[in-house]
Amino acid sequence: MNDLHIHLGGAVPSSVLWEILCDNGLRTEFVDFTSFHDSLTARPDQVKSLDDFLGRYFQVTEEIQSSPSAASVSAYQVVAKAYRRAQVTALELRFNPQKRRRHGLHTMDAIILAVMQGLERATLHYGVATGIILSLGRDLSLEANWQIIDAAIKWRSRGSLNGANGVVGIDMAGPESRSLELSKPWMSEVAAMMETARKAGLKITYHVGESSATGPKGMQKVIEAIHPDRIGHGIELRNATGKQRDALITLLREDNICLEICPTVNLVTRVVPDYATVASFVHDLVGNEIPYCINTDNPYLIHTNLKREYDVIEKELGADATTLLELGTQHAAQHRFLSM
Ligand SMILES: [Zn+2]
Repeated sequence: MNDLHIHLGGAVPSSVLWEILCDNGLRTEFVDFTSFHDSLTARPDQVKSLDDFLGRYFQVTEEIQSSPSAASVSAYQVVAKAYRRAQVTALELRFNPQKRRRHGLHTMDAIILAVMQGLERATLHYGVATGIILSLGRDLSLEANWQIIDAAIKWRSRGSLNGANGVVGIDMAGPESRSLELSKPWMSEVAAMMETARKAGLKITYHVGESSATGPKGMQKVIEAIHPDRIGHGIELRNATGKQRDALITLLREDNICLEICPTVNLVTRVVPDYATVASFVHDLVGNEIPYCINTDNPYLIHTNLKREYDVIEKELGADATTLLELGTQHAAQHRFLSM
């Protein structure tokens, strides 16, 4: 099984983060592990929206992961847990290196190298093929994002080393509410970044259409400007109608863009009302010959794993569930950025 959409900030067990926090003597509001664990558990009745989700949890986890040793341990634990819980055999881990520099104390190079080393150890110990996707941030300046592109090119994969691939791709993440994809100057600058990365041999994925803030229109703008290899979520396609829907389906199919579906996080952030909605979206993609894969996104914040994500969708897919999930697995293998 492949997990191609999983964030370092949402995939590390709270016990590991707590130990890093204590070992580093970080001053926080948490008095004990129980209150810390509770604060890192995202529940649908507490999360108001995607932006609320991102702001509420990631600032804490990113701060704790902001040192080379913390980043390395965190990356290792993501892979170890994914293998032990769900027998994941290939994992592309994404994170934003600018957000782990502890306000400039550490360099991005040190953070990226530490994550690579953590993944190399995990690959060796568990036999899981790994790759790194560096996330740009909608909430960062263009200059800070260009620096991530430069770092990604510097650390780009030179091929698989016993299954560990180094940096294989670029992502865009962060709050969708500012709808930056609809701003022409911003989008053209980001398109230039992505093109620079692509020319250096990196693949592109992009969080868009995860909520109505970017919606089908944001998806269309991103595809036309960037032609990403994959899209993070894209579940807002289900809300497109008429000519816009036809145009979007044609773009996705002709560009052969794989949609990274993450069922439970869409529920937690109130983007969909239930798993049946996600299953019906999968049927829609199959009917329109658009590739898709199932992923976890933030397994520890939302208490899931890849096996569970397959199970919850399988229950809703109906008679051809096995075939459709197998198709998703094939798409993941075809569209992953890492090599084995
Ligand atoms: Zn995501």
